[in-house]
Amino acid sequence: MARDYYGLLGVGRGASESEIKRAYRKLARELHPDVNPDEEAQARFKEISVAYEVLSDPEKRRIVDLGGDPLETAGAAGNGFSGGFGGLGDVFEAFFGGGTASRGPIGRVRPGSDSLLRMRLDLSECATGVTKQVTVDTAVLCDLCQGKGTHGNSTPVTCDTCGGRGEVQTVQRSLLGQVMTARPCPVCGGVGEVIPDPCHRCGGDGRVRSRREISVKIPAGVGDGMRVRLAAQGEVGPGGGPAGDLYVEVHEKAHDTFVRDGDDLHCTISVPMVDAALGASVTVDAILDGPIEVEIPAGTQPGAVITIRGHGMPHLRSGVRGDLHAHVDVMVPTRLDHDDIEILRKLKEKRARDVAEVRSTQSQGAAGGGFFSRLRETFTGR
Ligand SMILES: [Zn+2]
Ligand SMILES: [Zn+2]
Repeated sequence: MARDYYGLLGVGRGASESEIKRAYRKLARELHPDVNPDEEAQARFKEISVAYEVLSDPEKRRIVDLGGDPLETAGAAGNGFSGGFGGLGDVFEAFFGGGTASRGPIGRVRPGSDSLLRMRLDLSECATGVTKQVTVDTAVLCDLCQGKGTHGNSTPVTCDTCGGRGEVQTVQRSLLGQVMTARPCPVCGGVGEVIPDPCHRCGGDGRVRSRREISVKIPAGVGDGMRVRLAAQGEVGPGGGPAGDLYVEVHEKAHDTFVRDGDDLHCTISVPMVDAALGASVTVDAILDGPIEVEIPAGTQPGAVITIRGHGMPHLRSGVRGDLHAHVDVMVPTRLDHDDIEILRKLKEKRARDVAEVRSTQSQGAAGGGFFSRLRETFTGR
């Protein structure tokens, strides 16, 4: 059954926005709890406030006009008008400025917050995954009172200052006459009750700070800035409320040889000039694989990139390995003895057709890329 929102405010179905507003304001003056403490009046005040909330919202009013009830679909069904209660403050703020609707005391037992911990890992640890002991400093459940906050068999009592409402009110003048504005009670902190004989260990908070060692499993393939979540290892809440989560954030240390780009790794291999010309095999101490042989083909040019498939980092989820990109640097000998010079002179005579060549820095050379394109290769890893 759809509620008769128009009937509650005493307006016709064709009522304009301002007519609805006027009707609500008129009723609110009579029924506001601070003016009329009568219980029936309070119930009606809730009803008209919900009706106003619905009819002042074009989208909700459209649903009403189609014969539906916008609050039924919002999950308020079966709750009478209480489902709309949360919206009461909004309606009031729109009208009179400043929240005046009472929201009642907050719970003494509330969920705890998450905590964050940083962990520095080197590249190998990121590649293999690692289990580490860490020291966590969070609030934990008070084992003396088990979160109750009370000493022995004592119990909390209703707060005198706010009478259990969790908030204290001050009177303000407005068009309603006297209107109360509420703020959290300074004595009970909004809970509505106080503990006269608090637990000797936690002072009534239900939790204490504690340092503990926990073991954290970091999966293979993690990277800088990634977070591992440990459910319910964060701060225990006030009153022993459920603990938040603990996040361990990975900080990857720079590696001496490899630079990481996602799952790919990059390194530089400096090759003697003669090896670049004749070809050579170079041993690289790869991540996860230990020493591997990288073949430098004969005639390799400076800046060439040799890709060794499957020797990069494992992918975090799939475990599929990225690639290793070896950037070749060619070392030209600087200290030549008499024999060396003789040999190189002979080679030069034999290869008289090899002469210096001047071209644009951006042109594509025989090596498959000028200076800038090789730079791009180096920094993008492609
Ligand atoms: Zn305690
Ligand atoms: Zn209080």
